[in-house]
Amino acid sequence: MFLPFWDPTMVLLIPALILAAYAQAKVQSTYAKYSQIRSASGRTGREIAQAILSANGIPDVTVEPGQGYLSDHYDPIKKTIQLSPQNYQDSSIAAVSVAAHECGHAIQHAQGYAALQMRTAIFPLANIGSSLAWIFIIAGFIFANRLSIFGVGLLDIGIFLFTFAVLFQLITLPVEFDASKRAIVQLNRLGMVDSQEQQAAKKVLDAAALTYVAAAAAAVLQLVRLLLIRDRR
Ligand SMILES: [Zn+2]
Repeated sequence: MFLPFWDPTMVLLIPALILAAYAQAKVQSTYAKYSQIRSASGRTGREIAQAILSANGIPDVTVEPGQGYLSDHYDPIKKTIQLSPQNYQDSSIAAVSVAAHECGHAIQHAQGYAALQMRTAIFPLANIGSSLAWIFIIAGFIFANRLSIFGVGLLDIGIFLFTFAVLFQLITLPVEFDASKRAIVQLNRLGMVDSQEQQAAKKVLDAAALTYVAAAAAAVLQLVRLLLIRDRR
């Protein structure tokens, strides 16, 4: 994410770095705390996810154990919820919260939630865009933005490609907040948490959401920075 030299616009990235470090620490401490507290229902993340899916008439999504710490995600193409080993087999508050959150994404998908559809559509562009962008941006610097393709500067092409990565991070925010909201609704509706556990589940999900806010802030500030650099040239 960093250009290989110092320039004053780098100051813009400092708040993003602080927020990212704070979010990371917060999610780790919150997760560590609530993965030690068993939920009263005694149901594992897998059981919670399967119960929510069946209660919402979503029989075609499978729940599988994934690999790696906090690797939990919903795959809309394979229609699977992958829970990290701990969340899959444990009945902690953290496991229950994360499992319900991933079900939130499966429900979004089943209901055709617009922001999730946009996010899925933009994902390949953002993926290619974010890797290619830096090649053009760095080339734009090396060749002082003089080399151009059809009259468009290399730096401009790089910034254009980077915009897709920024859009992806921004559209991720409503998708994540909505999935957590749905998770709490489902846990309540199916009587899987009491009111104290619901508060705890909210804390776990809010901490996780903060990491997405930090990532989006970093992407936006990086884009602002690139535009400032471009204007000075
Ligand atoms: Zn999510």
